[in-house]
Amino acid sequence: MQPFSFSVFRNAKMRFAMPLALVTGTFAVHGDIVTFMSQHIEVLLLLPYILLSLVIMLCQPFNQSKTGISAMLMLLAYYLIQQNLQTPLAQSTTGLTYILLAILLPLNLFQLHFIPERRLFSRFGLIYLGVLGLQISWGWLLVKHVEPNQNTEMWLTYFYTLGDFSPLPLVLILLLLSLSCASASIILKRNQGYDQATFICLLFSGLTLAQFQQPYISSVAFTVASGLLLLNLMSCSHELAFIDPLTGIPGRRAMETELKHLGRTYTLAMLDVDHFKQFNDQYGHKTGDDVLRLVAQFLLNINIKADVYRYGGEEFTILFKGKRKNQCIDALEELREAIANYPMHIRDIETRPLNDLEGKRKRGTGNHQETVQITVSIGVADSQEDSRTANVLKVADKALYKAKQNGRNQIV
Ligand code: GH3
Ligand code: MG
Ligand code: MG
Repeated sequence: MQPFSFSVFRNAKMRFAMPLALVTGTFAVHGDIVTFMSQHIEVLLLLPYILLSLVIMLCQPFNQSKTGISAMLMLLAYYLIQQNLQTPLAQSTTGLTYILLAILLPLNLFQLHFIPERRLFSRFGLIYLGVLGLQISWGWLLVKHVEPNQNTEMWLTYFYTLGDFSPLPLVLILLLLSLSCASASIILKRNQGYDQATFICLLFSGLTLAQFQQPYISSVAFTVASGLLLLNLMSCSHELAFIDPLTGIPGRRAMETELKHLGRTYTLAMLDVDHFKQFNDQYGHKTGDDVLRLVAQFLLNINIKADVYRYGGEEFTILFKGKRKNQCIDALEELREAIANYPMHIRDIETRPLNDLEGKRKRGTGNHQETVQITVSIGVADSQEDSRTANVLKVADKALYKAKQNGRNQIV
């Protein structure tokens, strides 16, 4: 049994709840953190620079450019806060810079939900950086235009603020809240790592902007945010390495790692979809992929505690830890039957509708739905066969071969 797995961090509810809990915690105890770090304030001030740069660098090799852009925006914001926003907000240029940051940062972060995941060093990336550069130049010109030390508190005269609670105009607090809520609902709906990165940045930059009167709030909040971004990156990279992208179940690498750490008693089953090549040829690879996803779902719902892996192609491996062959056969038989009895509806790919309207018309006639039956063959072996796992796997593979020879849709 693996004591700890990154997969818990990829759960949609976890992706939503953990940043929320931590931002609440940061809000509650950031004063204590600052006191705790008071001897090393310069370290605290540096941490966001170091951690965010690390996130940006790690995003490159893992092709997580949206997470990288989120971190880059945070780094820019942090730099701006440290360089230009350390004087009282009543000073007109500081106040205006603060307001511009509070508008542009959340909007730029939020729109990351909707841009495609592309490399930053591409045409798309250059255009993106261009648009960002334009915003920064525009903001810079605007701030330059205002005379410093005017003491106008100009934004306060236009917007209502919540007194001592926050220097941020209420309308901008509402903007931050609504963007954060929308971001949360996107995570719960799509459950993607890059969406969580945006959510994290929205929450912690939001906390910073809304609690701007608190000393060192930006350093504390941006440090916690960077830690979460690193965790997000690690769990996404873990997914890249160990999870099969087509079926969403662990892949061959995960299986090989697990097989090295088995106890004395276990059973291995090799499962192979019957006549799958023929199926692909007849209905197309996309429908073939649907079948693989369907089989994976059946495997996940097997009636006994088991770990399932996509071994490769249309072959799956089921691992029963602490069980002998005879303890698993019934569940496997049930699985085989459930798959064989499941009517899979497929659309005729060859005459696939060219647009939605035609699609509706064709679906209306009901002529292009076809039902097919999928069957699987299974070979089983347990640890009594051999002391070496590789050999047990070989025996299961041989049994599978026999199941195929005996006419398929069966367990040997
Ligand atoms: P048998 O009953 O003996 O297992 O016959 P089979 O056709 O299932 O076996 P074979 O090994 O000849 O063909 C396996 C096919 O699986 C070949 C390949 O096109 C298909 N395949 C492998 N991986 C994928 C995949 O990820 N998606 C799709 N759609 N097809 C795949
Ligand atoms: Mg095969
Ligand atoms: Mg096959």
